[in-house]
Amino acid sequence: MIKINKTVLITGASRGIGNSIARVFADNNYNVIINYLNSEISALDLEASLKEEGKNALAFKADVRNREEVDEMVQRAVMEFGSVDVLINNAGISQQKLFTEITKADWDDMLDVHINGTYNLCQSVLPYMLEKKQGKIINISSIWGLVGASCEVHYSTAKAAMIGFTKALAKELGPSNIQVNCIAPGIIDTDMNSFLNEDEAKDLIDQTPLMKFGKPEDIAYAALYFASQKADFITGQVLSPNGGFVI
Ligand code: NAP
Repeated sequence: MIKINKTVLITGASRGIGNSIARVFADNNYNVIINYLNSEISALDLEASLKEEGKNALAFKADVRNREEVDEMVQRAVMEFGSVDVLINNAGISQQKLFTEITKADWDDMLDVHINGTYNLCQSVLPYMLEKKQGKIINISSIWGLVGASCEVHYSTAKAAMIGFTKALAKELGPSNIQVNCIAPGIIDTDMNSFLNEDEAKDLIDQTPLMKFGKPEDIAYAALYFASQKADFITGQVLSPNGGFVI
């Protein structure tokens, strides 16, 4: 019997958490669409190494802020693999600034990537999921969307909006058998936290009951669970792998 793999599209999969999600899903027999924007070499490297291992992977450049590019990516994914069964809205940016110093451009950019990006991807993928009456959407928020971060009002606002978006869409899509869930990671060791100096990093680790930063795989395995049949009765929920930082 031919086994038909499911297909996952991960935004921002060239680096960090998204990259790890792509690897973990490929290891679990998913076809993976590796979306990227600037880090082409890293995205193509991941595609090549997964293909060398006999896995199905496609790297695709698209700015999540741009609906036309997103639609092109989704159409290509459907052409290549037949469907998009799992969408993971992971692409993100961060910035540390006093609220009074956040410019209109900073503010718009933050909301554009996280909120408009999530809107664009969901709108583009949903017709295919609705047709099959099946699908999983996983939005990557942040603990700062739950509790707010000083000097990151725009980031916290965008991440909180992703939680509201998740809950509302979960209610709307439940009758169509499409689950929408959210992951709100704690501090994960990626480029996004490279701005922290040694003292700041130590301070954050001291505030974490498990006494360490998370690894990208900690988030990838949470996403794998939400995408699986084991989570078919779970929708509209927020799971926060954070080492106990927020309880
Ligand atoms: P990262 O290492 O900085 O990677 C960010 C990824 O997003 C990159 O692949 C980047 O692609 C992509 N990206 C950014 N803007 C994009 C756009 N307009 N269109 C398409 N792709 C875009 O960040 P990370 O730590 O892995 O974070 C991943 C997600 O987890 C983000 O949503 C972040 O907010 C969230 N998160 C992270 C942490 C943490 O501590 N690291 C904690 C909580 C939540 P290119 O490099 O190709 O441009």
